[in-house]
Amino acid sequence: MNYADAERIDTLLCNKKGNKIDSPNSAQLVVIVGCGVRQSADSKAISTIRNIRKKNPKALIILTGCLSNRSDIQKKTKGIVDIYLSISKWNSFSRNDIYQLLQKKDIKELKSNLKNFYRTLPRITSPSTAYIPIMTGCNNYCSYCVVPMARGKEISFSPEDILAQAKTLIDNGYKEIILLGQNVNSYKGKDKKGEIWSFSQLVKKIHSIKGDFWIKFVSSHPKDVNQALINILKLKKVSNHFHLPIQSGSDNILTKMNRKYTQKEYSNLIKKIKSQIPDIVLTSDYILGFPGETNKDFKESIKTAKEAQFEMLYINKYSPRPQTTAKKLKDDVSQNIKKKREKEIDKVWKKTALEKNHKLIGKTKKVLIDSIFNKEGKKWVLGHTFCDKRIKALLGKNNIGSGNWVYIKIDKVTPTALSGKIVKKL
Ligand code: SAM
Ligand code: SF4
Repeated sequence: MNYADAERIDTLLCNKKGNKIDSPNSAQLVVIVGCGVRQSADSKAISTIRNIRKKNPKALIILTGCLSNRSDIQKKTKGIVDIYLSISKWNSFSRNDIYQLLQKKDIKELKSNLKNFYRTLPRITSPSTAYIPIMTGCNNYCSYCVVPMARGKEISFSPEDILAQAKTLIDNGYKEIILLGQNVNSYKGKDKKGEIWSFSQLVKKIHSIKGDFWIKFVSSHPKDVNQALINILKLKKVSNHFHLPIQSGSDNILTKMNRKYTQKEYSNLIKKIKSQIPDIVLTSDYILGFPGETNKDFKESIKTAKEAQFEMLYINKYSPRPQTTAKKLKDDVSQNIKKKREKEIDKVWKKTALEKNHKLIGKTKKVLIDSIFNKEGKKWVLGHTFCDKRIKALLGKNNIGSGNWVYIKIDKVTPTALSGKIVKKL
C-alpha cells in the first residue's frame, strides 16, 4: 500500500515539474512514506530520516503515510522532519507550496481529498506490475493492529475509477494488476448510478478487459471469504495463488486477537477451496508471541500450517503498537522464544514448499520477467510465475527484456525459488 502511494506521490510531484534523482542526500525535497505496522518499521523510518537529515541539512523533508499523524513519531522526529502530510492532502499540495516551504515559509491549510489521490495514475517503477488500491482503511480492529488508527475507517473507491485505471495500465502494457486493500472481500464501491459493487463484481469486470494480463489481490480476511470469491479464483486471468492470513492456529489466541473465526472454520474454508481448486497455492501471515501465547497455542499454529500446506509464510514476531487494545496486555513472550518459534514454523512451510516445488520439475511455466541480471559473466532472467513463484533462467541468445513473457522449463527447485531453461518466448 505504501509502495502504491509512493508511485502516486511521484506522479503528483513530477506533474509539478519535479525531477526524481537517485540519492536523497542531494535532493531539495525528500518524501518518506512511513509504515508503522511493527516497531521495526517505525525505527527504520526514523533512522532513515535521521541519516538523510545528517547528510542533507537543507532538504525539505516530508513524512507521509501511516506514520504522519502519530504524535509519538512527531515527537521523535521534531526538528528533523519539516512537514507531516497525510496521504489525503497530496492533491492540494501545489508547486508554490513547495517553494514556500523550501524557503521555510508557512503554507495555507491543505484540503483533504482521499478519493482524488487514488485517481492519480501511478508512475510505476516495475516493468510489468501495477498496483491499484481499491480501498483504504479498515473496520476490523484486530487487537494487535495499528492500521485502523493509521489509515482510518474503510473507504472503497468507485468501480468506474478503478476500471479506468486498470484499462489505462493494461493498454500501457502492464501485464499484472495487483488489487490492494486491507480486506478486499469487504469492498463495496458505489458507482455513478448509486449501485454498490462487490469485490467479485469488480474483479469480473477487470477480467473482461481485453488483453493478456494476470490479476492478483491482497489481502483477504478469512471471515469474509465466500463462494463468490472462490469462483473469482477460478477465472482464467486470476492467479491461483491465494494469500489468506491466519495469524494463529489457536482459538484462544484468535479470540484475543479479535479475528472472528476459529481454527476449525479456517481449516474448513481451506478444504472447501482445495476441493474446488486443487492446484491452489496457499500462503499466509502468522504473528508469533502474541501476549499469553503458550507452547500449546504455538503447537496448534504449527499443526494448522502443516494441514493447510502453506507454501510461504510471512512470519511476524508480535510487536506492541500504540492505540491498539493488545497494547494493554503484557508483552510476556520473550524475544528468545519468539525467535525459536519463528525458526520452527519457518521449517514447516519450507518443507511443504520444497515438496510441492519438486513436483514442478519437468513442467513448463509461463513467466513474467522482472529483471535481467549478471552473474559470473552470464546474463540471467529473473521473473515470477502465475502463482508467484520466483524463477530464473539463463538468458542465452534470447533477445528479451524485463516486462515480457517467456516460457521456462523447470529443472531445479528450492523452497523459495525455481530455475530452468527458456523454451519459448512470446
Ligand atoms: N489486513 C490483513 C489481514 O487481515 O490479515 C493484514 C494487514 S497487516 C498490515 C499485515 C501483517 O502484519 C498482518 O497480517 C500481521 O501478520 C502483521 N502485523 C500486524 N500488526 C502486527 C503487530 N502488532 N505485530 C506483529 N505483526 C503484526
Ligand atoms: Fe489490521 Fe488486517 Fe485486522 Fe484490519 S483486518 S485490523 S488491517 S490485521
